[in-house]
Amino acid sequence: MKTENSNKLFTESIRYFPGGVNSPARAWNAVSGNPVFLENGAGPYVWDADDNKYIDYVLSWGPLILGHAASSVVESITSSVLKGTSFGAPTKTENDLGKMIIDAFPSIDMIRFVSSGTEAVMSAIRLARAHTDRNKIIKFEGGYHGHADSLLVNAGSGAATHGTPSSSGVTYSNANDTLTANYNDLESVRSLFTENKNEIACVIVEPIAANMGVIPPVTGFLEGLRDITTSNSSLLIFDEVVTGFRVAYGGAQSLYNIKPDITCLGKIIGGGLPVGAYGASHKIMQEVSPLGPMYQAGTLSGNPVAMSAGSATLKALQMSGIYDDLECMSQYLEREIYNLLTKSKLPVKINRVGSMMTIFFSESEVTSWKSASGSKTDIFIKLFHSMLNQNVYLPPSPYEAMFLSTEHRENEISSTIISLKTALET
Ligand SMILES: *Cc1c(COP(=O)(O)O)cnc(C)c1O
Repeated sequence: MKTENSNKLFTESIRYFPGGVNSPARAWNAVSGNPVFLENGAGPYVWDADDNKYIDYVLSWGPLILGHAASSVVESITSSVLKGTSFGAPTKTENDLGKMIIDAFPSIDMIRFVSSGTEAVMSAIRLARAHTDRNKIIKFEGGYHGHADSLLVNAGSGAATHGTPSSSGVTYSNANDTLTANYNDLESVRSLFTENKNEIACVIVEPIAANMGVIPPVTGFLEGLRDITTSNSSLLIFDEVVTGFRVAYGGAQSLYNIKPDITCLGKIIGGGLPVGAYGASHKIMQEVSPLGPMYQAGTLSGNPVAMSAGSATLKALQMSGIYDDLECMSQYLEREIYNLLTKSKLPVKINRVGSMMTIFFSESEVTSWKSASGSKTDIFIKLFHSMLNQNVYLPPSPYEAMFLSTEHRENEISSTIISLKTALET
């Protein structure tokens, strides 16, 4: 595979940007080697700077559920751009997307648009603290909620304890208010509530974990979180930045039939442009400025071009059968991968919910960060590079989700399988 142009661009970019990238996951530290620079996307495919064509299972890390450059999205963006790119005043496009999201999520009466998932989560935490007048929050080990200070905290291995910062620059006073529990382990949550009575503002959770690889909630986990938070007058925040409109039109909360107090969205609702949002009941959203005392603002929030991309995406997702089709293709891919990997005697556990999945090279079930981090990453790294050489672009880390789009059809899946077969033979 020719990589001359990508390598040249990377040599230049490392002079401009830390690690040559503007978001760390784009550097291939987890798999080693230089990242390929992408230039073009169409449907399920991307092309790099050396004109290599790949089947793309990254899809911009989740937003592109319709594939690259979906015509309805491109048309909507184009006509919006021609009318001006930003006004700093309310526009009808915000109403359109806002209404679609409120209609899709019964737990959301009102919403506030921001420009990233990080901002959505950061604001949701502030809102929970404002509403409950409490300081502490609970997150889960291996749960990623963007890069706000209070969420860059991880208790490390072991039982639930007070958090230590997992990034330099995050202060201990900030980390101290963040408690960390184990995903899929209600007991670890209960004991934090017992130790911190009347101090916990909220529990924030990815209802389907997607940032330590895909890890679905075990039966009763989300129900348990709902019960514990309600009985302690704490709020339950679902971070559905990945899962919203991905696993079902109404997100993971519709799939598992749980109503969180606050929902965070991002990725798909921006149709490939920068959008985030948080929403809740009228009662909770009353706190948000200018209605209430919780301040939160943004120069480009609700940007009309981004809103139009989101609206066009959600409109396309309303077509009947879309999620059934995604399930069908994803199931097909999962089954074929599973068959090939078990035939080659590799220890494999595939975690999948709808069109997001992770292949863990692990003997045991993967249900938490602890079991995820026990998987054999060296097998994944080898597989990543040999798939890349055969024009399949997997996420460049063993702890990320692969995504499918509505454009990934039989053709792409079967050619992915053929590539995998070759990869396993070499
Ligand atoms: C991507 C992601 C975020 C952060 O969103 P950004 O737009 O990258 O700031 C937050 N939560 C979850 C679950 C995510 O996957």
